[in-house]
Amino acid sequence: KRFSDFGLSVEITRALMELGYETPTEVQSKVLPVALEKKDLVVKSQTGSGKTASFGIPLCEMVEWEENKPQALVLTPTRELAVQVKEDITNIGRFKRIKAAAVYGKSPFHRQKLELNQKTHVVAGTPGRVLDHIEKGTFPLDKLNYLVIDEADEMLNMGFIEQVEAIIKELPADRVTLTFSATLPEDVESLCHKYMKDPVNIEV
Ligand code: AMP
Repeated sequence: KRFSDFGLSVEITRALMELGYETPTEVQSKVLPVALEKKDLVVKSQTGSGKTASFGIPLCEMVEWEENKPQALVLTPTRELAVQVKEDITNIGRFKRIKAAAVYGKSPFHRQKLELNQKTHVVAGTPGRVLDHIEKGTFPLDKLNYLVIDEADEMLNMGFIEQVEAIIKELPADRVTLTFSATLPEDVESLCHKYMKDPVNIEV
């Protein structure tokens, strides 16, 4: 498969070229067509497989530049991963001028609050701080159409289940949810069963 098989916009195609992404990885070939149809997805894949771009490309395609409130939330187990996701999305969405923010603990709340209330299309963050912003009313959620749960097994291993569920309960019901996990233990399966709509399963 080639990136040109997926009907991507010229802006995203150009960004992929400049990043040196010539051909899609296996996870990208499988995820892109389904995610672009706005279906819920559970993806079993390892880091290093190109999974970030496999959700980053569809998110960048689907968010509307004109909308000023956050449209996509990517939950990550660590701040390092949140920053990585923010950078990858910024690069992929460069020519569409997509703005991404990273929101995580032990970092000034106020600056994140400003970012969340200025034009930010995609927010990557760790569950504790994301929930903190939601509870303080500094994270507008009414346009949040896409949720990505990245490294779900790690996130639950780190004890984030309660925060993750509390966040999901605040999100619009008519959203798309994409879950990525290296393994699918029972707690991850049960989370998917509880909060996703007939997800397509992909294994790489
Ligand atoms: P990830 O699994 O998302 O952490 O990605 C692993 C590495 O592969 C990152 O350094 C990406 O920039 C790179 N990458 C992702 N997709 C592609 C692609 N289609 N072609 C070449 N490199 C890629």
